Amino acid sequence: MRQLYILYHYLIVNILYYFCSGIREGVIPLLGAIIGDIIGSPYEHSFIKTEEFPLFIEKSTFTDDTVLTVAIADGVMGDRDYSKSLRQYHRLYPDRGYGDSFSLWASSETSKPYGSFGNGSAMRVSPIGFAFNDLESVVLEATRSAEVTHNHTEGIKGAQATASAVFLARIGKTKREIADYIESSFDYDLTEPIASVRKWYSFDPTSHGTVPHSIRAFLESKDFVDAIRKAVSLGGDSDTLACIAGSIAHAYYRHIPDRVVEEAVHLLDDRLRSVTQEFCSRFCVLL
Ligand SMILES: [Mg+2]
Repeated sequence: MRQLYILYHYLIVNILYYFCSGIREGVIPLLGAIIGDIIGSPYEHSFIKTEEFPLFIEKSTFTDDTVLTVAIADGVMGDRDYSKSLRQYHRLYPDRGYGDSFSLWASSETSKPYGSFGNGSAMRVSPIGFAFNDLESVVLEATRSAEVTHNHTEGIKGAQATASAVFLARIGKTKREIADYIESSFDYDLTEPIASVRKWYSFDPTSHGTVPHSIRAFLESKDFVDAIRKAVSLGGDSDTLACIAGSIAHAYYRHIPDRVVEEAVHLLDDRLRSVTQEFCSRFCVLL
C-alpha cells in the first residue's frame, strides 16, 4: 500500500514536470507560491524568529493563499472575471483561513470591493506574473485582480509590485534590476536586512507591512528554500510572507528541490493539482 502511495505521488510530480519540460527548464508556475504557503502554514502567529525549522510537519497544509492563487490562475485561463473565480473557490474551500472581510465579501454575489489594504491581493496574484508577456499587461491585470476586493491604493500596489517582481524574475532580470524597479515604481524600502527586520517584526497582515519584506527575503536568498526560510523567520503572517517570497524565488531560481515539490504536491487535492497542471501547460513559456 505504502509503495502504491509513493508511486502515485511520483507520477503526479512527473506529470507536472512533463507539462513544462523542455519549455522552461522545469519551472512550474504557481508551485513557488503554493509551496511557500504550505511551508509557512504551521508557523503563522508562532513568531519562530529562526531560519532553522522543519519544512514539513504534520500541521503543514494549504491555506487561503494557495486556494486564491489557484482561483486567479483559473480566472486567467477563463473569462478573467476574478470576482466570480474568487467567490467560487471560497465556496469550494470555505475553511482555509480567510480574513473576515473577504469571507463576508465572497459570501454575496452582489458585494462591492471593500477598500482593503491587506496582503490578500499580493498573495494571490503570482499567476499573472507568469501569464502575461509584458510589464504593462502584468501591472494592468494585477490591478484588475486586486481591485475586486482590495481597491485601496496599498492593496493595488501590493499586487502590482508582486506580479511585477515575478514577471521580471521570470524574464531573467537580475536581483538588482528587480529591486531598483520595485523601489522606484512602488516606493517600497527594500534596504533593511531580514536579520534586522526580524528583531522588531510582528504579525502584520497589511500589504505594505508584508510585500516589501517578502521581496527582501527573496533578494537576500541563495536559493528557493532559503527564500522561504528567510520569509518564515520574520514571524507573523508566515504563510503569506513565504507565499509571496516563494512565487518570486521560483520565477528567479527556476528550481525547487524534488523532495520539496513532492511533499507539497501530495498535500493538494485533485482539483488544485489539475488547475495547476492546466495553467502550467498554457503559460509555461520562456520569453
Ligand atoms: Mg493563509
